Amino acid sequence: MNHITDIKGGFTLNNGVKMPYFGLGVYLSKEGQEVINAVKWALEEGYRHIDTAAIYENEAGVGEGIRESGVPREEVFLVSKVWNSDQGYDSAIKAFEASLERLGTDYLDLYLIHWPVKGKYRETWRALETLYNEKRVKAIGVSNFLSHHLEDLLDQASIVPMVNQMEFHPYLVQKDLLGFCKEKDIQYEAWSPLMQGNVFEVELLKELAKKYQKSIAQIVLRWDLQKGVITIPKSSKRNRIAENASIFDFSLSEDDISRLDKLDRHQRFGPDPDTFDF
Ligand code: NAD
Repeated sequence: MNHITDIKGGFTLNNGVKMPYFGLGVYLSKEGQEVINAVKWALEEGYRHIDTAAIYENEAGVGEGIRESGVPREEVFLVSKVWNSDQGYDSAIKAFEASLERLGTDYLDLYLIHWPVKGKYRETWRALETLYNEKRVKAIGVSNFLSHHLEDLLDQASIVPMVNQMEFHPYLVQKDLLGFCKEKDIQYEAWSPLMQGNVFEVELLKELAKKYQKSIAQIVLRWDLQKGVITIPKSSKRNRIAENASIFDFSLSEDDISRLDKLDRHQRFGPDPDTFDF
C-alpha cells in the first residue's frame, strides 16, 4: 500500500532520498513570464517538485520562479534532464553544468538521461554516476528506458537508477515495465499523465468523476499516486495548477483502480523509445 498523505508527501528512492510524488511539469511552458508564473503559482499551491529539461528551454524561468516564490531552494525537488545531443561522458557533465547555470542553483535533486540514445547512454550514465558521487545531484535516473534498455544499463552500472520517467496514462499502463522497475527498486514516474490533454473524452473517467465528485484530471492523477507512480501534470494556468493538486481529500477504491488499469491499449501519444530518431 502506497502511503499518500498530502501534496508534500513523497516516495523513498532506492538511495533513501524522499521524492515528492506530485509535481509540476513545464514542457511547452514558455520561457519568461509564463513559466515563472506557473512555477510560482505551483509553489504557492504547495507543490514542492518541478520537472524541467534542457530541451524545454525554460530552465532560467524555472529558476527565477523558484527564487521569486520565496520558498527556500532546499524545499523544492528540482529535476532536469540531459538532452540527446549532449550524451556521452564529457558532454553530459558540461550539459549538467550549463543546466545549473541557467537554473541559478548549485545542485539538482534529480538528473535524468532524457532518452536512451543508442551507443551513448552507457557513457552518459557514467557521467551521471560521477555527478552523484561528487554530491552535485541527490539522485540520478533515466527516462524512456524500456526493460531491455534498463537491463543493458544495469549490466555495467555501479549505481542502479533511482527513477525511470515514462509515458504513462490509462491508455498506456505498461504493467510489465512497472513490475520490472518495482523488482529492481527503480521508482516509476509518469510523463503525459493526462495524455497531453486527451484524457477528457474517456467514458469511464467521466463516470468516475461523477461518482467521486472530482474532475477527470483529479481522478487520473489520484490513480497514479495510488499505483505508486510519481506524477507531474503540466499546466501554466493558475486554476488548473490548483485543480490538479486537489487530490488529497479522496481515495479511489481498489475496484475502480483495476477498472482504470483495464483501459490499457498500449497507445502512445509521444514517441516510442525503440524508434525515436532525435
Ligand atoms: P500532460 O499529460 O500533463 O497534459 C498537459 C495538457 O493537459 C496541457 O495541454 C494542459 O493544458 C492540459 N491540462 C492540464 N491540467 C488540466 C486540467 N486540470 N484540465 C484540463 N486540461 C488540463 O502532458 P505533458 O506536458 O506532455 O506531460 C507532463 C510533464 O511530463 C511535462 O510537462 C514534462 O515535464 C514531462 N514530460 C517528459 C517527457 C520525457 O520524455 N521525459 C516527455 C513529455 C513530458
